[in-house]
Amino acid sequence: MDKAQAPVEEMPPRKVLFIDDEQDFETLIRQRFRKAVRSGDIDLYFAYNGADGLDLLRKHTDIGIVFTDINMPEMDGITFLRTLETEEFQDRLLRVVVVTAFGNMKNIRHAMNSGAFDFITKPVEFDDLKMTLEKAANELDKMHEGRAAAQALESAIREKELARASEKLKEDFFANITHELRTPLTLIMGPVERTLELTREAHTVQNLKIVHSNSRRLLQLINRLLDLSRVEAGSMKLHRKRVDLPALLREVVTSFRDLAARKQIELRIQRQPEQFFTDLDPERIVQILYNLLSNALKFTPEGGRVLVDMAVDEAMDRFTVSIKDTGVGIPQADLPHVFDRFFRVEGRQGKGTGIGLSLSKELVELHAGEMSVRSIEGLGSEFFFTLPHVEGATEVFELREWEPQLPEDREVNIAPDEDEIPQEAERAIDDSRPTVLIVEDNPDMRQLVAAELAGEYNLRTAGNGREGLTIANEVVPDLVVCDVMMPEMDGFEFCSILKQDDATSHVPVIMLTARAAIEDKLEGLELGADDYLTKPFEGRELRVRVRNLIQGRVRLRDYFRNQFLTAPQPIKAKSREEVFLLKVKSVIHAHLSDEQFGVEALCTELGMSRTQVHRKLTALTGNSAGYVIRTYRLETAMEMLRRDTGNISEIAYDVGFSSPSYFTKCFTEHFNLTPREVRKSLT
Ligand code: ADP
Repeated sequence: MDKAQAPVEEMPPRKVLFIDDEQDFETLIRQRFRKAVRSGDIDLYFAYNGADGLDLLRKHTDIGIVFTDINMPEMDGITFLRTLETEEFQDRLLRVVVVTAFGNMKNIRHAMNSGAFDFITKPVEFDDLKMTLEKAANELDKMHEGRAAAQALESAIREKELARASEKLKEDFFANITHELRTPLTLIMGPVERTLELTREAHTVQNLKIVHSNSRRLLQLINRLLDLSRVEAGSMKLHRKRVDLPALLREVVTSFRDLAARKQIELRIQRQPEQFFTDLDPERIVQILYNLLSNALKFTPEGGRVLVDMAVDEAMDRFTVSIKDTGVGIPQADLPHVFDRFFRVEGRQGKGTGIGLSLSKELVELHAGEMSVRSIEGLGSEFFFTLPHVEGATEVFELREWEPQLPEDREVNIAPDEDEIPQEAERAIDDSRPTVLIVEDNPDMRQLVAAELAGEYNLRTAGNGREGLTIANEVVPDLVVCDVMMPEMDGFEFCSILKQDDATSHVPVIMLTARAAIEDKLEGLELGADDYLTKPFEGRELRVRVRNLIQGRVRLRDYFRNQFLTAPQPIKAKSREEVFLLKVKSVIHAHLSDEQFGVEALCTELGMSRTQVHRKLTALTGNSAGYVIRTYRLETAMEMLRRDTGNISEIAYDVGFSSPSYFTKCFTEHFNLTPREVRKSLT
């Protein structure tokens, strides 16, 4: 490209200072650089001694090149140069060329030793000056580039340091808070353990076990969070030891035997070398194995299988461990996320925190390995990790001295077995007590609610909405306490179906929810929940609410009983329950003269089971179905007698009695008046 066409104005002019006590020198320079000055390539500054030169440098901080004479009055060139070395100009990027008499080597050496970049000799040859100027300019550019790079580097380092400091801060914070949380937790667990040893009282034992297992769960969660933050901050160090991995695997699998047996899951090592020594951090590897095995057992139903496998590759430089189950599997869409922190498969909430796998993967990667998963929903999953075979550790891991710290991990990671929870409360059915159905997926929470209500009520429990509906339909409880978030069928759906079914529509529902959000409340109430409790709740409050609702039903029952039984003429139906009672009444009415019509036929007509009809009618009216039918017949007879629709025998047959004398007996018992007396009182 032609130089003339170059975008000159974009290049800032070179700023050059000339210091010389000879006035002619200035004239010469100005003349020679006239063109360059005019085209904006160069700015010229002139001073007549060192001190003036320094002043100009102070004023124009972008002057980068200086040509200075050495012998000058007031301040000579050497002093000028030395001043540039002082603190004031320390950070200034400058290139100084000395202009000195030809042959004055002493001066030149002096100047060069004092920081001059180059020299030219007098009388000045303009070409020489120009070349030296260009050289100085190039040099200056390089210095600027160097400085920019250095600054960038410095700021990068500073940023990294800052990031590290903030990671450290985070980690310290975690460490501190963990410690702060661990201490009170330990102080909760200790006394609970001691009290558990001393107590025989079933309810107390039950409650304390819940406290204990949840404290443990919390402790484990805290520990995992701390581990995760350590890994992320890069401060988790591996303690590699020489480990016989197959032996360690056998040990770990053995410690899961009980649990597998209890769940009737076949757990075994399928294939592995007899012995294989490699360097790894046994504690961390065990942590990974526990996570994978707990998950496999947790997500595999009874009768399933969990297989462990270990193989070394041919080159003997890597090995793979795999844990395969025949469990519920993971939906295809979720597979890429299972190692994300806090990830849990939708609908399987309440079963863990979603930290385990992300931590396991981090720990595998810390060992320079890889972890992955294969899974087909409904068929099972296989998690496997591959680690490089490393040798050279001096410390040997002694399996014999190793104590598996199972209880914490295992109990915590896996929901307590249903069988472990004492269910006496549920078993002892006392007919005089109202029945409460508890629908809650968390076994501990279910047990806690049960423990609160056990003394006063017959209890039934269900682990999700669907199960809850089955039980509700079967037993028609007097009240339901139900959770909102549950797998399979949540509390809202449960409640709405319950309230739409004639058999159960009258049953009051208390919803328990962890979300205090008012919208939830509204949604629940719209779907027919009768009351709300937000978790954590106080036992006393739960008991009061349950009692209030059940008593409320008793008042309602008195109202219905009066309305329903003493007034054979149709009542005006307002609520769902009144509509139901009206239906009952019209069914009975339609069969009034049919002496064969009884409870069985009523149930068939209503499309409900005998228990359902019985439970519903006693809940609404306080009376059995048989009693309701009989009373309806008698009340109608009373009406007919009053309206004088026929003789007593006729009326007896009309309301479904086959024998007038039996009719008279029942009528008299019910009204404390004989039919004849009623007749008489009318005339
Ligand atoms: P946690 O078990 O504490 O929830 P993890 O990180 O160990 O956390 O697991 C994350 C999620 O991955 C689990 O909630 C579960 O949904 C799914 N998952 C893990 N292992 C299995 C498995 N073997 N079978 C089916 N799903 C699994």
